[in-house]
Amino acid sequence: MAQKHTVSFISLGCPKNLVDSEGLVSTLLSRGFRVLDDPKDADLVVVNTCGFLAASRSESVDTIKEAVALKDGGVQGVLVAGCMVGNYKDQIEKEAPGVDRFVPFVDYSNIDGIAEELLPKDPSPSFTVERRRVDAALTPGHYAYLKISEGCNHTCAFCVIPDIRGPMRSLPEDDLVARARTLAERGVKELVVIAQDSTVYGTDLYGSNRTSRLLHRLDSIEGVEWIRLMYAYPTEVRDELIETLATSERVLPYLDVPMQHASDSVLKRMRRGYGRARLSRMVQDLRDRVPDIALRTTFIVGFPGETDADFEELLDFVREARVERLGAFRYSDEAGSRAADLDGQVPESVKDERYDRLMMEQQQIAFAHNEASIGTTESVLVDAAAVDGHPAVARRRRDAPEVDASVFIQNDALRPGDLIQVEITGASGYDLRATLPG
Ligand code: SF4
Repeated sequence: MAQKHTVSFISLGCPKNLVDSEGLVSTLLSRGFRVLDDPKDADLVVVNTCGFLAASRSESVDTIKEAVALKDGGVQGVLVAGCMVGNYKDQIEKEAPGVDRFVPFVDYSNIDGIAEELLPKDPSPSFTVERRRVDAALTPGHYAYLKISEGCNHTCAFCVIPDIRGPMRSLPEDDLVARARTLAERGVKELVVIAQDSTVYGTDLYGSNRTSRLLHRLDSIEGVEWIRLMYAYPTEVRDELIETLATSERVLPYLDVPMQHASDSVLKRMRRGYGRARLSRMVQDLRDRVPDIALRTTFIVGFPGETDADFEELLDFVREARVERLGAFRYSDEAGSRAADLDGQVPESVKDERYDRLMMEQQQIAFAHNEASIGTTESVLVDAAAVDGHPAVARRRRDAPEVDASVFIQNDALRPGDLIQVEITGASGYDLRATLPG
């Protein structure tokens, strides 16, 4: 019998991109493609790029170059999708020549047609059978991302997502609940709810904000143990949402809320629609009303016009808010963004220095939070079993997959997806050690 065509995916960037990759994989699986882990063994390689800031773009270009080089072996074609296709196609063509097709967002549903055009006709019946619905997951089986909307209505000066992905479009609530049920039936214990802005869900479809209502419906699905909300917008963290985080059984006391800066003048230039006072109130409300809440945020340093005083104000806010998790980026121009036209560009050396100072400040805070947790008993979800003398890896309720801290446990019996109680016995940098009680 003829072999089916094979495809390998390299998904870069954020979980939103990963969910897009899952959609692309599902479409190709539904047409009979086999998905392989190792790109060099595949007929076709798809690179789903991330265009967020210069460092991500450079990683994407390097990855494309590596994929194109595989055409010297058995790979027959390289497709490039993702955020770079819109605004950085020229850069890719110049720096990583040899891509066979670029796949913009509007063509995602036709990726199977594009792939089939590129490859020699496969005599296997898989190309002629009816398309069957396939739902691929690129996460380990015990957690999954649930993308609740596409696009964004904000106009942040440093971002081109609204231009390339369009305005916010919510997915129907019933469809999301059905998807979550399917995931729970497959063994998913943790649902990570994502969107460009997850806190305005439903306003387009239903005329009112349905984020909390959706979270309550997900909360009632049997089998789902943890529900984690990522990518909240500060001005949308209102009473109803805070109450939901405080009272729902399985919606975790965790919020990823990118704040981007804390100086009023920088936030104004960024067009974020809030100032430091609003951020301080939001953090205080969350701390006061949601017991044990853990906060994650991101900040950009070196945005055009950021002065020493602006940066000191950011540091001051970081000391005040003491968020558990903080990611920082050095600003870089995004082609087509409003910020790219702003004056007052900050020299790279100053961005580096500010980045280092911010991360050092946060390190002390993160380490202090970790020290404070030593001796406590925590629920953890196991992500990986112990292997070759290395401990099992788990996460607390206050830690999101991929980006937050890990808990290491020396125990060979633990398996991914186990939800257990552990005693935190020590801290190593950003991570923790634990043992099973008893
Ligand atoms: S909220 Fe701002 S940064 Fe986030 S996707 Fe929308 S425009 Fe971009």
